[in-house]
Amino acid sequence: MDLDPGSIGKYLLNVVLPATCAHCGLDLHYLDDAPLCPACSGGLEPLPALRCEACGLPLDSGGRSCRDCRGGAPRSLALARSAFVFNPQLRSLVHAFKYRAREDLAAFLAEKMASAFPAFPELAPYTFAAAVPLHPAKRRERGFNQAELLAAALAPSCGLFHLEGAAGRTRNTKSQTTLSKEKRRSNIAGAFAIIKPELVKGRNILLVDDVATTLATLEELASEFKKAGARSVAAYTLAREP
Ligand SMILES: [Zn+2]
Ligand SMILES: [Zn+2]
Repeated sequence: MDLDPGSIGKYLLNVVLPATCAHCGLDLHYLDDAPLCPACSGGLEPLPALRCEACGLPLDSGGRSCRDCRGGAPRSLALARSAFVFNPQLRSLVHAFKYRAREDLAAFLAEKMASAFPAFPELAPYTFAAAVPLHPAKRRERGFNQAELLAAALAPSCGLFHLEGAAGRTRNTKSQTTLSKEKRRSNIAGAFAIIKPELVKGRNILLVDDVATTLATLEELASEFKKAGARSVAAYTLAREP
């Protein structure tokens, strides 16, 4: 056995408090810092190449865009991309991160997002990263804003400038998870305000969040950034839920 003090510390910690895979619960090797076992880690699914060229939605058959983007009204959000599809393995990780206060997972998840980032050269013009803000009450309850942690860790490794506190959430909205597409739009309307328009004007902004579903939240925030004078707004999230 390796006898350096760090490894011994990890070994002892693992005896008292064994680390387990966030998805399948299998015991992890004491030197392994990854939150998933190798099999679950290998189960993470990158965003497929067959996807909507605008919103990034994975497509079942050919074509360049999804039904919503083909016939839809013009949007404030120019582009959306995600590192992974929101599959069961990633769902377990995001759940641990957000609801079991595993703040330590931010670095691991941001690193995964950073490794996938070069696959999206279309995002290269967007050099200013802004996290989707949480309402202060929700932030207090959770202890952190997961999107802010991801943006802070992602920015330096992707050559982005992190715009902190550019926008805020003025309304504490109901969780979007159980709402229909239409309800999500009305639930989130008017929820954001731009606090520092001087950070936004004339810039290409990349919104950062953990999971994108209908894009209602990202679209609403993008429209506020555009009203405040942003040149263009795109989004990059850890996961895309089809
Ligand atoms: Zn596992
Ligand atoms: Zn689309």
